[in-house]
Amino acid sequence: HLDDPVKRQKVLELVRGLDLTADTQKKIRDVFESEMELGLAKNPPVASSLQMENTFLPELCDGSEEGDYLSLDLGGTNFRVIWLRIKSGAVVSEAVQYYQVPEDVRLGPGVKLFDFLAECIHNFMDGRQLKGQNLPLGFTFSFPMTQQGLDVGILVSWTKSFNCSGVVGEDAVKMLNDAIHRRGDTDVDVIAVLNDTTGTLVQGAFVDRKCAIGLILGTGSNACYIERADRIEKWEGEHKDVKEVVIDVEWGAFGDNGVLDFIKTEYDKEVDRNSLLVGSFTFEKHFGGKYLGEIVRCVLVRLTKEGLLFQSNASEELLQHGAFTTRFVSLIEEDNVNGVDVNTTGALNELKLAFNKEDIEIVKYICWLVSDRAAILVSICTASLLERMDRPETTVAIDGSLFKHHPRLKSFMEKYIAAMAPANKFQLMLAEDGSGKGAGLIAAIASRLK
Ligand code: ADP
Repeated sequence: HLDDPVKRQKVLELVRGLDLTADTQKKIRDVFESEMELGLAKNPPVASSLQMENTFLPELCDGSEEGDYLSLDLGGTNFRVIWLRIKSGAVVSEAVQYYQVPEDVRLGPGVKLFDFLAECIHNFMDGRQLKGQNLPLGFTFSFPMTQQGLDVGILVSWTKSFNCSGVVGEDAVKMLNDAIHRRGDTDVDVIAVLNDTTGTLVQGAFVDRKCAIGLILGTGSNACYIERADRIEKWEGEHKDVKEVVIDVEWGAFGDNGVLDFIKTEYDKEVDRNSLLVGSFTFEKHFGGKYLGEIVRCVLVRLTKEGLLFQSNASEELLQHGAFTTRFVSLIEEDNVNGVDVNTTGALNELKLAFNKEDIEIVKYICWLVSDRAAILVSICTASLLERMDRPETTVAIDGSLFKHHPRLKSFMEKYIAAMAPANKFQLMLAEDGSGKGAGLIAAIASRLK
């Protein structure tokens, strides 16, 4: 709604690349589908950027689960032990305890880390009179790993604040089981390992049996879905009785091999250049919660430099990496929904910017554009999974603060997915705490399958 048509034209010109044309969207989908096939192939001619990890989880909850289960959720500085009691497929009681992993444990020898985890499990059970019971445990291990079975997870590399020696290349489940057995006073068996994405799908399917896709839209992004076993060419071990299995797409890294270069704008390239792992996690850098605000910031800085915003004066605050948070994007999008400016002016004041009515209009437009692109990118891949599974009706279980707090990501996604997979009915469902409860539920499924 800018009065000056020349200025309007200049702004549109500088953000054109963020507006994905129908042709570009089609190309993204084609590339995603061919990368999925390459990721499932036995001897792919070129490496895929999609890992398409086999989780070895052949089914979800069927309502017959019963008993007491533990989950362990390790990924941040806090880790959790959770206990679930399930009767006739429903959780009838649960308890959770948070523990801090001390820095010297996070950075010390791996054996010490797993001894520490085993000690926490012991204390948790002791305090709850669970002592003496043999309890199956599901382990959410949110680090890059390759699975060789439902209960085998080989650590590829440590990330976040962890760097324990002697664990890379080893099976985290075995290390945890060994630590538990070394104690001799804790009767727990680690029977499944998973990441938050698989946990979200399992947790979602517990609530709604139509769930067949798990999606994370938080700091980063990932998805998993149910694949036909006969399509997983690379699966070598014995599995002739398995019809389906959950595949973890690991789509955060989609495009790390260059196949998505055609969608990168100068803003995406700048976000990548300023990120911790340059050249990695290409797809999620286009819309993950860690990056969405930063993309908007890069656009605003450029428009300011071009004399199109804030009378060419960028504040020191605006020039700081990370200063424009994804929370701001959500707040400004709320203004777009409500037809007001209150959150936008609040954010711009916080960034110590001098602004007029036109600046507000432009900032609101950029937040919409970047959010809309986020929804389109996630929808392209989600629609592709829906068509691939081709079920009459599918629920997509979604976790993560970006999905939870952005005021209209969900409605944008509903609109785009419906248009992109017109024959497949679907619902988007918020499914929180897959990394916690989901692990206990997987332990219940694994016990049933034994
Ligand atoms: P994680 O993905 O690390 O497990 P979360 O799901 O809580 O954790 O996601 C954290 C991300 O959510 C952060 O990158 C942050 O930018 C983003 N976020 C936090 N609050 C909001 C908000 N109000 N709107 C949109 N994104 C948000």
